[in-house]
Order: sequence, then structure tokens, then C-alpha cells
Amino acid sequence: MSKNHRGSGIRSLPAHGKGTCAICGKIDIKVLWEKEINGQTVKVCKFCNAKLKNEARVEARKAKPAAEAAATEAPAEETSAAAE
Ligand SMILES: [Zn+2]
Repeated sequence: MSKNHRGSGIRSLPAHGKGTCAICGKIDIKVLWEKEINGQTVKVCKFCNAKLKNEARVEARKAKPAAEAAATEAPAEETSAAAE
């Protein structure tokens, strides 16, 4: 199962797995990664795959501290409102 995107594994694919990336529009690049964008499954190159992966990671990281901050802020607001 290793080297899914290299060597003999992609030789059997049409055009050796190469095509036009749905995101960056590069032509004749390996498009072996399928990504779901707006409910549509598109084939993207490894650069766009990595980009989407990184964005998802950053979003996941952003979402977590924001939720925690909201949880800690909420009681503080309540006490200040009660003091007034
Ligand atoms: Zn791309």
C-alpha cells in the first residue's frame, strides 16, 4: 500500500495519473488526491492537497481555543454585570 502516488501504482492510470488540478489549474501535474469542495469531489495536485490539509488543521486549532475562551469569558461577563 506504500507509494500510492508513485511508480508502478500510477502507471496503469490514464495519463499516468496526470491531469489538470481543479484548484490551482496547473496542467500535466499528478492529480491523485481527491478532495470534497462544496459537496463536489475534485481531483487536486499534491500542493493543493497539502494546502487544504494545512487550512483544515489551522481551522481546527483556531476553533478550539475560541470555544475555550468563550467558556471562560461568559462567567466573567456575568459577574461584572451583576456588580453594576
Ligand atoms: Zn493544485
